[in-house]
Amino acid sequence: MTDTTTASRETLGFQTEVKQLLQLMIHSLYSNREIFLRELVSNASDACDKLRFEALHNNALYEDDSDLAIRISFDKDARTLTIADNGIGMSRDEVIANLGTIAKSGTREFFGKLSGDQQKDAHLIGQFGVGFYSAFIVADKVSVLTRRAGEKSDQGVRWESDGGGEFSIEMVDKAARGTEITLHLREGQDDLLASYKLREIIKKYSNHIVQPIVMKKEEWKEGKSEVTNEDETVNQASALWTRAKNEISEEEYQEFYKHVGHDYDAPLAWTHARVEGRQEYTQLLYVPQRAPFDLYDRSSRHGIKLYVRRVFIMDDAEQLMPQYLRFIRGVVDSADLPLNVSREILQESKDIEAIRKGCTSKVLALLADLAENDAEKYAKFWGEFGRVLKEGAGEDFANKDKIAALLRFASTHADTPDETVSLKDYISRMKDGQEKIYYVTAETFNAAKNSPHLEVFRKKGIEVLLLSERVDEWVVGSLTEFDGKELVSVAKGGLDLGKLEDEAEKQEQEKQADAFKELTDRIKGSLSDKVKEVRITHRLTDSPACLVSDEHDIGGNLARILKAAGQKAPTSQPILEINPQHPVVQRLKDESAHFDDWTAVLFDQALLAEGGQLDDPAGFVKRVNQLMLEMGK
Ligand code: ADP
Ligand code: MG
Repeated sequence: MTDTTTASRETLGFQTEVKQLLQLMIHSLYSNREIFLRELVSNASDACDKLRFEALHNNALYEDDSDLAIRISFDKDARTLTIADNGIGMSRDEVIANLGTIAKSGTREFFGKLSGDQQKDAHLIGQFGVGFYSAFIVADKVSVLTRRAGEKSDQGVRWESDGGGEFSIEMVDKAARGTEITLHLREGQDDLLASYKLREIIKKYSNHIVQPIVMKKEEWKEGKSEVTNEDETVNQASALWTRAKNEISEEEYQEFYKHVGHDYDAPLAWTHARVEGRQEYTQLLYVPQRAPFDLYDRSSRHGIKLYVRRVFIMDDAEQLMPQYLRFIRGVVDSADLPLNVSREILQESKDIEAIRKGCTSKVLALLADLAENDAEKYAKFWGEFGRVLKEGAGEDFANKDKIAALLRFASTHADTPDETVSLKDYISRMKDGQEKIYYVTAETFNAAKNSPHLEVFRKKGIEVLLLSERVDEWVVGSLTEFDGKELVSVAKGGLDLGKLEDEAEKQEQEKQADAFKELTDRIKGSLSDKVKEVRITHRLTDSPACLVSDEHDIGGNLARILKAAGQKAPTSQPILEINPQHPVVQRLKDESAHFDDWTAVLFDQALLAEGGQLDDPAGFVKRVNQLMLEMGK
């Protein structure tokens, strides 16, 4: 930050990302300029909520003014618009941090991804949230006057900026606590300097705000409207979630979501219910349309807001949702919790546990309903949040079956990387005599799709799920069966195809095992400590060899993931399976001089085919070249 200090006024530079955001916002959101008011009102409302909550412990913060409200006024001559609240306000340090930087983690990475193409970037901005800086869509100068509740009397702060690279800050007197934001409108924005226009915008975007949004009443006198001194509340000013469902319009649900979810886009779906019984609470929970940019940052904020009897208690009450549903936004309003509930208390509270259970069930039911009745929406949901939901298969034992039914996978049935196949679909396509659900895990979709382990399944027309997300290993680690059908890896243990193989095939395999006994022993001797065992395969039709892991050993893919994550994986050697039909393997029976080189290459290519890394790549290249020369002779 640059710092040029005069007597009491300082000029500071915005964080680089703020400058970028400002540029992007002004240019790309222009066609939707009215949202600036929604954002400023949303912040004013949050500030009132925070004051009410802090005042629970310190009533003096009200300073004899406990009627919280948001006031909107304008001055036609000065061409300014002012949004004022008597909420919590900000101290000097808070102003600098909140209105000069973006404190979200991952911000730098997010801005690094911007393409410079305005249309594409404008789309991304919704993922980021727009917030305070949207004021610059309509204003070429913004002035914020604020005083924190409880701050020593009259000591306020003025922040000012033209939305370029800098802002100024100075200490000033401010009698009333709270924040007053004055927008000096850009050319061409004068239509905002009209009472009816502002009312229209407020009704459209901010009707659901709990605090009254107050404007001066207007009267018609001699064919002209005149602003009177009388106050008038413009919005409905009641807690939306406490209203009856049939009295709330779709638009109101959507606008409320944008406020609680700090999102620019409308939600994908929601569920609203009052729960009565041992616990009494109201839940209004939303599934966003798009994942926020910091979805994988477990410290990201803006989850569920907790209210107790309509008093805001806290943002992001993470105890109200399991981790794997951390993308859900909304409100829980409890009738039973004490008002002085703290995060520490929440952690141990049995009541909260009951509420979390209830919310989890509601969300899972909402998702099941989408999956059942709106395939397009569900596919959208899955594309954004599927990977997170998969964490639930391992995290939430009580809901394992429900979660399993919601999972979607890529599969040999579709052969595209899109995850569209449910376990139910899979089961409905199972072959006569098939008892198990087969899957393969690999690091990429292509590695899974082309895995040699699939050869026999392709030949027999048996579907195999193609799992190539890291989290998939965790899914199959805990999800061992679905609807009574065992989930098995095609690369683990001795492949038992059960009734999918006929007697003749089984006999043929035994015969081959005898015929190749000497060869498998010789290979084992040559590879010695690299493999646990060498045996004849019945998985392969085209490839000469593949690696499999023993029933209870950890698979190759998981071992590689753990290693890449810097974790210690239990080491276990793979089993090398060779294909007796393959000419290379048959030829190996008569090889003597280069036997060790051949088997080393056989092992290495099996490792490569499943996406593994060679221990000695240069050695592999050398051997292959040697063998190529031999062939030419
Ligand atoms: P968000 O609301 O998602 O946190 P914003 O850009 O809208 O992001 O606001 C940034 C921050 O500035 C808020 O989190 C809040 O701390 C502060 N802020 C903005 N407006 C007000 C206000 N009217 N009163 C108090 N604090 C405010
Ligand atoms: Mg905001």
